[in-house]
Parts: sequence; C-alpha cells; structure tokens
Amino acid sequence: MNILVINAGSSSLKYQLLNPETQEVLAKGLCERIGIDGKFTYKPTGKTVIKAADVAMPTHNEAIQTVLNALVDPENGVITSMKEIDAVGHRVVHGGEKFAASVLIDDEVMAAIEECNPLAPLHNPANIIGIKACQALMPDVPMVAVFDTAFHQTMPAVAYTYALPREYYVNDKVRRYGFHGTSHKYVTSRAAEMLGKPLEELKIISCHLGNGSSVAAVKNGKSVDTSMGFTPLAGLPMGTRSGDIDAGILEYLMHKHNMTIDEMLNVLNKKSGVEGISGISSDFRDLEDASAEGDENATLALEVFAYGVKKLIGAYAAAMGGVDAVIFTAGVGENGPETREMATRGLEFMGIKLDPEKNKVRGKDADVSAEDATVRTLVIATNEELMIAKDTAAIVNG
Ligand code: ADP
Repeated sequence: MNILVINAGSSSLKYQLLNPETQEVLAKGLCERIGIDGKFTYKPTGKTVIKAADVAMPTHNEAIQTVLNALVDPENGVITSMKEIDAVGHRVVHGGEKFAASVLIDDEVMAAIEECNPLAPLHNPANIIGIKACQALMPDVPMVAVFDTAFHQTMPAVAYTYALPREYYVNDKVRRYGFHGTSHKYVTSRAAEMLGKPLEELKIISCHLGNGSSVAAVKNGKSVDTSMGFTPLAGLPMGTRSGDIDAGILEYLMHKHNMTIDEMLNVLNKKSGVEGISGISSDFRDLEDASAEGDENATLALEVFAYGVKKLIGAYAAAMGGVDAVIFTAGVGENGPETREMATRGLEFMGIKLDPEKNKVRGKDADVSAEDATVRTLVIATNEELMIAKDTAAIVNG
C-alpha cells in the first residue's frame, strides 16, 4: 500500500510517498515558492535527485501535478501509474475540539476544518488548499486529514482551561489545544516498543525540541498535558518564538515603544526565543559555536532554553505522579547532546541520569540513560510522515 503524505503551507508543499507497512520511502521532496517562481525538489529513493528552479507553479494545483508527474515519470519515477497511490494523508494543523483523531475527508469534514481556520489563520487555509488541489487531481483517491492538535484532545479540563472568564472558552473556544501531536504520538509509541512495555502502562514525557518546541505528558498512551497552548506561541522559548511570557509585558512594551498588536506579535513570533536572547541565531549549532567562543548571550540563550525544558519535566512528572521515560526528539532533541545534558542535569534526585558516552548519539534511536537511572532517557528520531501514513492506511482499510 502506498500513501502520499502532503504537508501544504501557504507557498510551500512537502510530500512523501511511502509504504506504511514496510516503512519504505519511495520518494520525497518539496515544492517551494508556489505562486512566486516555483522551486521543485524530488528525491526518489535509489534514483537521481532532481532540483529545478523556475517551475511553473502559479497555484498548489500545478505544484501537486508536478509531484505526480515526477512520481510516474518513466525514467526517474517510482511508480508506473497513479493507480499505485492508494490514499493521500494530509497534515492539518488545527482540528479544534471537533477532531480527536484522524478522519476520512468528505464535504462535512472539509466544512469542519474550515470552521477551525480562525484558530490557525496562517496554517489551516493552506492545508485546505492542499487538500482541494489533491482532490481536483485525484478525485477517486481517498484522503485523510491528520491533525496536529488531535492527540492532545485527551487532555483533561484542568490542563486545558485558562483562568479567563468562562465565556471565552464557551463562546470563543479559547483553551489550550497543543500542537506537534503527530510527533508526540509517534515517539511515545516508539518508546514503548524500545522499552518492551505496553504504552498503556507507561508515563512518558516527550520533549519535541526543534525550531518550534513543545513538551507533552503522555500517561498510558494519552496526552494529559502539553506546553503549547491556544497557539504554537506558548510554552518553551523556541528558535524565534518567545514561549510563555507575562501578558502584562505586551501592554508595557506596546505603550512604551508605540507598537501595534501586529508589531508586538511579530516580535514575539519572529524576533524572540533563543535568537532574541542571543542576538545571533535561532539555530542551536550557531549558538553552541558562539557559546564555545565565549559569547555570554549565546550561553544564556542555551541555558534559558534547557532550564525551560527541565522545569517542564519536573512539572509533568508531578502531573502524572511519576515518570518512566523521557524522550528527546526533533532537530535539537535528536542532535543536541549538550541540550539533553543541560536539560536533565540535576534531575538525578528523580531517577533521571544520562550516560555521557551514550548521550553522544545524534539522529539515531537510543537509550542514553546511565546504568543506575530509574527513569529511561531515550533519543528517538521523529517521523511524522510515517505516523500520517499509518493513520491514513488504518482509516482507509477500515
Ligand atoms: P522544525 O521545527 O522546523 O521541524 P527541526 O525539528 O528540523 O525543526 O529542528 C531544527 C533545529 O534543529 C535547527 O534550528 C537546529 O537548531 C537544530 N539542529 C539540527 N541539527 C543539529 C545539530 N547537529 N546540533 C544541534 N542542533 C541541531
């Protein structure tokens, strides 16, 4: 069974054709600058990589047509006809309270996804454009929506309720939703596999640390709390996002510097986080280099980030009444031994202790705990595409 996974943004589109049973990736790639000057990247497994500029992609329809043409190309394709695409799995950022699981897309579902647009105005409309473009080109292929928020719909009210007037939840749906759900779901089930224990018996803290970062408390396979909130701006400091700050700061800075709310939010989303603190970069590799050369702001940025992760580990152990495993995943979690070390240093009292040698691992699944640790610390490479493909296959196969 071959599943085409589509992650559509406003001017870009990531795709991957894979078999969820064998986990074999047939091809993957990226369309960029859709509606501008069209850049196309196509990486077929075992064949020649294609990178093309100035490809005509005025809309997502042409972008997806370009992908389909490449997949069936006689020379460099990986399938002989479109019939070999059994289903399409679409990443959708926001499913609101409507979707607690992935779902087969029909007209009713499309309308419900559109209703969630105000909750993720930058992301959901682009996801919908991607779905419609695929429907136009593959009218007979079943399509499934996989939501970033769905995994967190199991959170209890005590974890998702903001202490605001109740009507803002009741009428305006303002609550914690959480994101990165597909990743947290994938790595926690992979952790159970690695530990040889049923997921339903484990208390896991999943740290997805990338450009965007979130931590989730996953008890018996269900998300019970997570650090992102109503939007992905909440929780940890990130590459360029502030994470949690005192809302009073907005009023103070907006008045003092005569900023509009849009200007303020631009600062919080694009100019803050570790880049804001360091004044250097949002990329942890740059910060580690600068810190090694003695840059104090780079060191502080790395420390503030790791301290944020450490506090969440403590908080979520408290929330779950213990913890069996801590997972580090995504760009920084998988590739940043220094961050893992800093975020867990001093947690020996709760049984979390790394083996410095094992912790040198980058980008591979590994148990990096010390021999005498009572809590396992795992590095797991996330695979959101595989999770989307598996969900899609499960739904299409009934
Ligand atoms: P996204 O949230 O965009 O999916 P990723 O999960 O790919 O982001 O994470 C990207 C970040 O991972 C980069 O900004 C970089 O800071 C970090 N990263 C990648 N490789 C390394 C590495 N070898 N060492 C430290 N950090 C790394």
